[in-house]
Amino acid sequence: MAERFEVYQCGVCGNVVGMLIAGGGQLTCCNLHGLWTQEV
Ligand SMILES: [Zn+2]
Repeated sequence: MAERFEVYQCGVCGNVVGMLIAGGGQLTCCNLHGLWTQEV
């Protein structure tokens, strides 16, 4: 199973979060889900 370190930016406050995603993860910020933009 490959581990990937990905960086996402919150679409509301602009907070940038990097996280290891191994088999799925959930990002939360501003009490919202699904407004993340992946930073390549
Ligand atoms: Zn946010």
